[in-house]
Amino acid sequence: MAKATILIVEDSPDIAEPLADAFRFEGFEVLQAANAIQALQIASEHRPDLILMDIQLPDMDGLAVARTLKSDPAVKHIPIVAMTAYDIVGDQARTITKTCIAYAQKPVRPRDLINLASAILKLPGDPEPPRRGRPPARPHGR
Ligand code: MN
Repeated sequence: MAKATILIVEDSPDIAEPLADAFRFEGFEVLQAANAIQALQIASEHRPDLILMDIQLPDMDGLAVARTLKSDPAVKHIPIVAMTAYDIVGDQARTITKTCIAYAQKPVRPRDLINLASAILKLPGDPEPPRRGRPPARPHGR
């Protein structure tokens, strides 16, 4: 069973593919969309646990996509992390964080986004190797 389902909305395969691979390697289920129309369809149909949203999409501003999702009661609860190639300055941060729980500036590092997603979703962190023969405590049993 996957840890969580992530929707990666990114039109550049050079960015999307390594990100998708890294999330899959960490045990996430990964859905992908390369434009706004796909993003809206997949989000409504699959209701992922978290969405990584490129702000610069070919058919629509990613922030507009995020706002559209936040206006839909069926998917408005899904946390959205914005990804942008531009420097976030001044009011832009406020504008983005009105809609998105967090943002990441490109070039994004897959590890950072996995950590961020895990924190947002409150997933247990990577277990530390046992130091004195005792397994790490597991908050959710088993
Ligand atoms: Mn883009």
